[in-house]
Amino acid sequence: MLRYLLLTLTLIALHSHAGESLLLTNVQVVDVEQGRLLQRDVLLEGGRIAGLRQPAAPAVAERTLDLGGRYLIPGLWDMHVHFEGTDLVEDNALLLPLYLAYGITAVRDASGSLAGTVLDWRREIAAGERLGPRIFTSGQKFEGVDSLWEGDREIADRAQMLAGMDEQQALGVDFIKITENTLPPALFLETVAEAHRRSLLVSTHVPLGLGIFELAAAGVSSIEHASYLLRLGSADEEDIARAVRAGELGADDANARYDRDFNQATANAAYARLAALDVAVTPTLIGGRQLAWLDETDHSDDAFLRYLTQQFTAKYQWRIGRMAGETAAQRAARKERYRLIAAQLPPLQEAGVTLLAGSDSAALNTYVYPAQALHDELALFVEAGLTPLQALQAATINGARFMRLGDDYGSISPGKRADLVVLEENPLEDIAATRAIHSLIRGGEVFDRAALDGMLDAAAARKQALETGRQ
Ligand SMILES: [Zn+2]
Repeated sequence: MLRYLLLTLTLIALHSHAGESLLLTNVQVVDVEQGRLLQRDVLLEGGRIAGLRQPAAPAVAERTLDLGGRYLIPGLWDMHVHFEGTDLVEDNALLLPLYLAYGITAVRDASGSLAGTVLDWRREIAAGERLGPRIFTSGQKFEGVDSLWEGDREIADRAQMLAGMDEQQALGVDFIKITENTLPPALFLETVAEAHRRSLLVSTHVPLGLGIFELAAAGVSSIEHASYLLRLGSADEEDIARAVRAGELGADDANARYDRDFNQATANAAYARLAALDVAVTPTLIGGRQLAWLDETDHSDDAFLRYLTQQFTAKYQWRIGRMAGETAAQRAARKERYRLIAAQLPPLQEAGVTLLAGSDSAALNTYVYPAQALHDELALFVEAGLTPLQALQAATINGARFMRLGDDYGSISPGKRADLVVLEENPLEDIAATRAIHSLIRGGEVFDRAALDGMLDAAAARKQALETGRQ
């Protein structure tokens, strides 16, 4: 504990104040909208970007920071994370500063079992009482009665849905999340429509009993997990959904038909319709990737385990256990399915669908490490065929616009909040550059490499303290 306190004190000493004006010089600004590098000095004032200036213009700031020709990007946003485990509150809390150390200045919490705690963290971080990324949260997600997931807002009818929506709104959640474990299709659709009627953003899975365009017509803002989009490769998607809803077709048969029918041209035409309806997609590739290659990968020496308690990684066994009986053919099919899902990214991008980079990191999502997994996700976007710029957009400007905060976040432009990451290499050439972080600026406050390393060391020390306390 003493070591943790000392590290925390060191952090306070190492970063500089947000209030003073600061001129960043000798830096290449990555313009994430146009995909170009700008040789500009960046003036920060009052936590915001006051202006971009020609280099060597007379100094106007109280302080100047020479960045040695490095690259400046907007703070990264992870648009799909979960904080879960009622027995893992401290285990999750210690990870919050890591997001900053990994260049991530905002996360969108797509619900877990810690809704009330996450709302507390959101307030504490905003108030400067806790180190962490800005949190957007759905609060409890909507589900049917006796759902598989812990902590859901379970609803049985329209009245309960409306009461739940009132309550979520009163809590000030940032969006509504809906999943399909036990929620009947009709009530699922009504919940989407109600959130939309209240002008709330609404992110969902896709029940087998609903067509993706039925959801779009009801006002869905984003579909979480690109795996659902494979259904659009079937020309009969809405008929299949209707048959499932009517009880004429079982889930296994419906899925078999989707597998059999998949046609890329049919899917691509549907993606253009989806883009026209302004429905965004959060692909979340890394989780499926980790599971599909579990049989060939040894994770026992992963560096990130430094920050994860045994109680946290114990949750990984749930999914590993569910896959234990798979045959060689099933394992091969899992890899093939991953490749087909990943292959949807270029046509989605081409069609104009807004892609949001989200890791789906969660204690229940095996080897999807919080913070680090966003960088893994971006690498998979590029491996799937997107350009580094498109991947970077999915983790910056796209998320900001999606959250209706495009005027305040997402690019390095005058008036926007000074949430910035300084990189050693050019991310437009190689997306792996997002991992080589020289320093972070959050609301104008500078965290140099030593300060970021201090956060990492503090998290590792906190993990050790939790383990020791539990022995
Ligand atoms: Zn998720």
